[in-house]
Amino acid sequence: MTESIPKTNLLGMSPEKLEAFFAELGEKRFRATQVLKWMHQLGAETFDDMTNISKSLRVKLNQVAEIREPEVVMHDVSKDGTRKWVIRVDGGSCVESVLIPEGDRATLCISSQVGCALDCSFCSTGKQGFNRNLTASEIIGQVRIAIKSFGPMDPAQPRRVTNVVFMGMGEPLMNFENVVSAIKLMMEDNAYGLSKRRVTLSTAGVVPGIDKLIEETDVSLAISLHAPNDELRNQLVPINKRYPIEELIAACNRYLERLNDRRVITVEYTLMAGINDQPVQARELGRLLKRLPCKLNLIPFNPFPNSGYDRPSEDAIAAFKQVMLKAGIMTTVRRTRGAEIDAACGQLVGQVEDRTRRSQKYIPIVQESTV
Ligand code: SAH
Repeated sequence: MTESIPKTNLLGMSPEKLEAFFAELGEKRFRATQVLKWMHQLGAETFDDMTNISKSLRVKLNQVAEIREPEVVMHDVSKDGTRKWVIRVDGGSCVESVLIPEGDRATLCISSQVGCALDCSFCSTGKQGFNRNLTASEIIGQVRIAIKSFGPMDPAQPRRVTNVVFMGMGEPLMNFENVVSAIKLMMEDNAYGLSKRRVTLSTAGVVPGIDKLIEETDVSLAISLHAPNDELRNQLVPINKRYPIEELIAACNRYLERLNDRRVITVEYTLMAGINDQPVQARELGRLLKRLPCKLNLIPFNPFPNSGYDRPSEDAIAAFKQVMLKAGIMTTVRRTRGAEIDAACGQLVGQVEDRTRRSQKYIPIVQESTV
């Protein structure tokens, strides 16, 4: 039996990588641009769709390459218009992505890993353990799938996805290369053409990754802070023990300096009753954030079974916000969207075949997510 050579999936290739691929085939550079447009603006499923490419090149491409998107196993639309996809990736695990429409914007929240290795104490993805990084095709595939859910792709139509945030499952800076390839496609004029202000990478604080990022792209940056001091943050976000708050703030300031375009960091702060929502903590946070050009996004905790945390009262949320505003920090509260389809922050569980065995500590949660 002759084993067939695995085909190269072109879907996740950054513009540079695609150019290199065509150069290796002995083809001209502009072929990369043509194929990018076909895949990412016109939604081509096969090379045979690509009518401005010669028959002979199409035959060659069919032999060595493919355009393969991950498979959608569930697509749900919530009453408020929020859409959620459960996407099966190679190996059988599932990840989730969510599209949140708001006025003339539609923000797509995408996943970067199957599970997550960081184990933040209040995040349901973390509780499921870690399986593997998503490929660049599996990451950009989530964008293409969301756009196609509105009908055939058509660059003449108004954008169906206006913003992308890496706030789904996984820690994007722990999957650096694939995430950067996908970001480049999002911001590439011949692909999705989103502006750097409309693509946001969110990190729990992988400091070396922040420094590496600026060498590759000028994407907008969000950090998941959740605590005003190291003592508390060490408990909530364990990676803080490796990269404490001072180092994280310094890295963010370096990032902004290099951007040099008056953008600010988005600081995410999940509010948990009695844990990090007290006025004294708000004041401490106000002092800390004075040293970072930022806007603060308060996320009231979204409960999940056996999490051990509660959402604060509306009064406590409003009081916390008031202290922040008084301290001169631009502050918004993220309102829960898509809760009835389990699409809210921290509710994305996918289906992770855990390799870390961490999930065994949380058996009730895993059972819940698989029925
Ligand atoms: N690993 C990256 C990307 C995930 S972002 C990061 O940590 O930034 C997901 C955001 O939702 C993070 O800010 C996270 O802290 C927040 N979140 C996680 N679980 C949550 C929950 N149960 N309720 C509210 N927010 C949650």
